[in-house]
Amino acid sequence: MLVFEFKIKAQKYQYLAIDEAMRIGQFVRNKCLRLWMDANKEDQINRNKLNKYTKVLSDSEEYPFVHKLNSMARQASAERAWASISRFYDNCKQKKPGKKGYPKFKKFSRSVEYKTCGWKLSNDRKYLSITDSTGIGKLKLVGSRDLHFYQKNQIKRVRLVRRADGYYAQFCIEITRIENSNSTGNYLGIDLGLESFYTDSTGKKVENPRFLRKSEKKLKKLQRKLSKCKKGSTNRRKAQARLARQHLKVSRQRKDFVVKTARCVAMSNDIVVIENLNIKGLVRTKLAKSINDASWSMFRDWLEYFCKVFDRKLIAVNPNYTSQDCSNCGQRIKKSLSTRTHICSCGARLDRDHNAGINILNKGIDSVGHTQIAQEYWVNASGQMSQWMC
Ligand SMILES: [Zn+2]
Repeated sequence: MLVFEFKIKAQKYQYLAIDEAMRIGQFVRNKCLRLWMDANKEDQINRNKLNKYTKVLSDSEEYPFVHKLNSMARQASAERAWASISRFYDNCKQKKPGKKGYPKFKKFSRSVEYKTCGWKLSNDRKYLSITDSTGIGKLKLVGSRDLHFYQKNQIKRVRLVRRADGYYAQFCIEITRIENSNSTGNYLGIDLGLESFYTDSTGKKVENPRFLRKSEKKLKKLQRKLSKCKKGSTNRRKAQARLARQHLKVSRQRKDFVVKTARCVAMSNDIVVIENLNIKGLVRTKLAKSINDASWSMFRDWLEYFCKVFDRKLIAVNPNYTSQDCSNCGQRIKKSLSTRTHICSCGARLDRDHNAGINILNKGIDSVGHTQIAQEYWVNASGQMSQWMC
């Protein structure tokens, strides 16, 4: 799935209509959740039943506004409810530590999703029309992406999103993206850190970019300013808006950095090994803030994505003792978080995170087995050779 995003340009009444559509979607989602909460075991609520329930809602005279939203958009809302229910079930089944994420009612939905109908793209692909009875109408799309490359039936979802700086339309496009990539012969182990973003098994450190740190600092400053404003005052409202825009800026910059870094790692290595951190579990400790800031989980998601795209192997290993054990002789050397250098009696002396990166790489290769790697290499190499011969 690829997601393309455009800014929307429209009239005031259209923005209000989009808000209304989001409210209806939220209403449907919450109603589905309520149905599930009130149900007995015998009712066996599932995705299908929730989908059917959206029809009941739109037919009912009690909620005359529901039918305005396109039927498949209503179903998409029901699917969202089901997604949060099934996530909760999964967490319970896997016995995840901590909270299981019991589904909550949404109060401030900021998006509404259409599936394959209820909308139309203009022939020049510069306008999106919403054709249900919500009254949204024709929206101008502003952005540098070109939708001409894709068939209309490749667009599986259209989502309208509200952000601090306006409204956006997202198009989810179904394509299988596998890029032709040559095998590089490189393996890499990655130790995600707090001081630098990560340190790899070659000893290279990747820092959080300066612009990101700078705008995060500004974010904190705006936060402080907001807390000084009187409640209900105009100044406070303005400060809130400024803060929201800064949040948006930081999250965009962070995503940009993470995507580029993950792409680069996947492109230049055949095998990437990372720690299998239970990030949710860690976040509850006092490291929480820095971990969130370093946006690790986002990085891992993108790494997974790019490893698929470039046909690379991604291995997650248990992180236990990776920072304690000596990467040279295997001796366990206890050290506190503040000890930054690994020193061993075997003569090894290197940066703590570099040592961890090597251990992570070794663990990953052990878990797959050298022979399997060698075999895959051979297949890769011969595959390429036949390409060249063509
Ligand atoms: Zn040693």
